[in-house]
Amino acid sequence: MRAAFTVLAVLTLSHSLYAADPVSPLSAAPADSTLHEATLRLRIYNYTSIGGRHLSEAQRLVSDVYLKAGVRIIWEPVLNRPVPVDPSTAPRMPVADVSIMLFNNEMSRRMDADPNIVGSAAVSMRGPGSIAYVHGERVKRVAKTQEQVRDILSFVIAHELSHLLLPPGCHTEAGLMRGEWSAPELRRLSIADFALTEAQRGTMRERVRSYGAGPLHTLLSD
Ligand SMILES: [Zn+2]
Repeated sequence: MRAAFTVLAVLTLSHSLYAADPVSPLSAAPADSTLHEATLRLRIYNYTSIGGRHLSEAQRLVSDVYLKAGVRIIWEPVLNRPVPVDPSTAPRMPVADVSIMLFNNEMSRRMDADPNIVGSAAVSMRGPGSIAYVHGERVKRVAKTQEQVRDILSFVIAHELSHLLLPPGCHTEAGLMRGEWSAPELRRLSIADFALTEAQRGTMRERVRSYGAGPLHTLLSD
């Protein structure tokens, strides 16, 4: 009866991932400061009951994961309104301007998402995507503790964000881009589960640099 959760871009970290440990690998900056040239603007639209503190901590974790890949994330403030969002009418936006929609149950239902999927990303065969979805209440159901909510939320956001930045078919056997996880596995995420390959990190940096200040790329209309 073990359900397998698909993270079209999902994931989680273990308790120690976030801990206020200043020497945590997740908080360590890359040795090469020139890697920080790639910058991504990111917004999270939170329509769930997940609190601001946990979300802020999750954002910090995601930032650390991407900083290790040489991509600096700027979290843009959003005006949050409790209204359903129709993915088919999502606005066009520069690909360097990425949005994460943190859906509640009703929104997940309206999206008709498979119940075992905790996150997905709208990607194009032509280039990076700009919008991803995280089914927040499903994350809360999998988690048994508040720390797990934060860690699983971090993983799923980081996984889906990678889908937006990497070419289609980027799942790997292990690490951040592993696609399927059981609930128990998600509850015991470790730092290794957030790892990206060198090739993935390089692709991300190049794509963010290439598209960051470039023209608009329509993603959801493909
Ligand atoms: Zn995935």
